[in-house]
Amino acid sequence: MERILAVVLLLLLTVFVFAESNSVDNMVSLTTIISETSADLSWSSYRSMGELSLNGKSILFKPGIPFLLLNYTEKSENFKIERGTNGDVFFSKDAASLISSFFTLSASEKSSLRIKAIIIDPGHGGRDSGAIGQYLSDGEKVKLMEKDIVLSVGLEVASLLRSSYHDKSIILTRSTDDFITLEQRTVIANGIDLEENESIIFVSIHANASLNSKANGFEVWYLPPDYRRKLLDDSVIESEPEDVIPILNTMLEEEITVESILLAQSIQKGLKGIVGDKIADRGLKEESWFVVRNTKMPAVLVELGFITNQEEAEILDDPAYLKKISEGIYNGVSGFINHFEVQYAPGE
Ligand SMILES: [Zn+2]
Repeated sequence: MERILAVVLLLLLTVFVFAESNSVDNMVSLTTIISETSADLSWSSYRSMGELSLNGKSILFKPGIPFLLLNYTEKSENFKIERGTNGDVFFSKDAASLISSFFTLSASEKSSLRIKAIIIDPGHGGRDSGAIGQYLSDGEKVKLMEKDIVLSVGLEVASLLRSSYHDKSIILTRSTDDFITLEQRTVIANGIDLEENESIIFVSIHANASLNSKANGFEVWYLPPDYRRKLLDDSVIESEPEDVIPILNTMLEEEITVESILLAQSIQKGLKGIVGDKIADRGLKEESWFVVRNTKMPAVLVELGFITNQEEAEILDDPAYLKKISEGIYNGVSGFINHFEVQYAPGE
């Protein structure tokens, strides 16, 4: 009896393994797709959902759901997408080829993607000092204000950008110790006319404060745009079977500005590369800051460090350190530009 049971179990197992390997036969793994397209993957294990992004384009997918969502707006369906036993995701061949052609830029896309302007926004100013900190130097209290630190960094980043990018407008929301409102900053950012494939980068610069004097490190916030890309028009929603609607809504919630995240990652990398040995990296955060919520562009907010932390206040008061930080931000912005403005190779 035991023997029979063992045989039956073995048979079941064989059938199961065979069926499993069969089901991913003729399918292309996510790992393969990533290595062929070099798209970036972000995976939400909470939602069991993934997003591939490249060149400012995005594809959302969810194993078990037969469609791909392109740039948050366009749904392409009747695909097979499933989770393999090894944890990898498998796509039917037609899905895989759609993904790679979607990420391949057409000639006109290649030549026209362009950053038109870079807006550097030093926070606060004038009567608004921003956060205030202090540190002890030879027994003397040295006081410092966020508005001054972020202005020096902003001016330096702008000057680095100006010397490298003659074809772009480099705009500072303030270059003096003057008070400007959030609305004014937003108006500056939104007042630039853009052609279809032009974009603006918006980088707001701040220094952090905390009641906890030990809080330390820099962080980069990426910001969702004020405009929500319309996922599906009503006619599409009406024709959708009911059970798909919650999934579409989840995807909508998942909506993010790919570009903002890429820009934030790039700046984080730039800062880490230059000042990573001096200051902790608190990572990327997402927030709807007013100043950038109202701008139609990839926008990030950099917190340089904690002015309320003695040690960090001291380095933030060092002009040489501020130059380094500025270089880190500059490297991040220019890394993003290189990624965004895909150029033709000569002779191509
Ligand atoms: Zn601030």
